[in-house]
Amino acid sequence: MPPEMPWYKIMREWENKVRKVVPYTPGEQPNEPDMIKLNTNENPYPPSPRVMEALLKIMPESLKLYPDPTAGTLVRALAKYHGVDESRVFVGVGSDDVLAMCFLTFFQSGKPILFPDITYSFYDVWAELFQIPYRRMRLNDNFEIELRDYISQTEESGGIIFPNPNAPTGIELEQKEIEEIVRKNHDKIVIVDEAYVDFGALSAVSLLDQYDNLIVVRTFSKSRALAGMRIGYALGSPQAIGYLNDAKYSFNSYTMDQTALAAGKASVEDEEYFREMLARVISTREWTKQELKRLGFTFPDSKANFIFASHPSCPAKQLYEALRQAHIYVRYFNKPRIDNYLRITVGTRSEMETFIKFLEKYLADAGIYSEKP
Ligand SMILES: *Cc1c(COP(=O)(O)O)cnc(C)c1O
Repeated sequence: MPPEMPWYKIMREWENKVRKVVPYTPGEQPNEPDMIKLNTNENPYPPSPRVMEALLKIMPESLKLYPDPTAGTLVRALAKYHGVDESRVFVGVGSDDVLAMCFLTFFQSGKPILFPDITYSFYDVWAELFQIPYRRMRLNDNFEIELRDYISQTEESGGIIFPNPNAPTGIELEQKEIEEIVRKNHDKIVIVDEAYVDFGALSAVSLLDQYDNLIVVRTFSKSRALAGMRIGYALGSPQAIGYLNDAKYSFNSYTMDQTALAAGKASVEDEEYFREMLARVISTREWTKQELKRLGFTFPDSKANFIFASHPSCPAKQLYEALRQAHIYVRYFNKPRIDNYLRITVGTRSEMETFIKFLEKYLADAGIYSEKP
């Protein structure tokens, strides 16, 4: 070993045979009793009480057996919920698992897949992991998807994926534009990641009957308040779902454990609680938008459970750090074009009141905001 070389710079012989990836960085999960956690788009309310009932019914004895590899109870509950055949439903360990399976399964052409430059930051990580070429299509200056980028390419693409509403902007893409993308790309898979659709955007699920190249991916983590349970699913044509299942059974047959199956089914079957919880989050979101506007923030109109906001007179990074000091956690992305924005998850009304009060005082102390007489 050359003496001037620190140990960590020395490449072991086997290291050039290793798959090297730059991993996705999840939002932090601080755990302080007095914190207000608005950084990872979780639901501020608990899941349906029926979930707890279902979990309490699980006998530890039954855990000695493998779970049902087809995840039948949950697949049937979701099929019924969406009014589709079971052959159109694929479930997984959170939608991250489902999306990873989709990348592995559908994006095999060697041609670049397309997604927005500002979007869920896991897409390029999976593309890198699975060595799928990709191109980031630039959102316009209002952070909107430019339809033409996805329907008239000079170079043929290997597939398309985008969230609707998009993250971290919260902007909804209109149904007819989604349909046009799916229709004009009938020779490849188009994935619509509907992680936030329940908070007020229109779902592409109604297009599934007409387009067998469309995959809609959903999660229980946000709207169903079950991030800790890890449940996600995809809806698509029976052919496409068949390919996903082949990939799954070639990787890990038992992705969904017994508790997730029971909890997921119970959640899907409690529509009333679900609707009430969503209505609360949506109304708090709208209240928060008004308050942010009053304080001088600007933001795209969000249909999700977060608001992507910027202040013309106060750098986002500075606000992020001040909020953090006060144990209020929001998400800040130190990335081109969005480094002056905060992504603020909608919490309970009282959490958002505390958050707004903090901002109001902070901006007033900085001489930026004062209540007009
Ligand atoms: C949160 C999120 C996911 C992943 O959710 P899971 O917890 O893995 O189900 C996927 N896509 C987007 C856009 C998200 O924001």
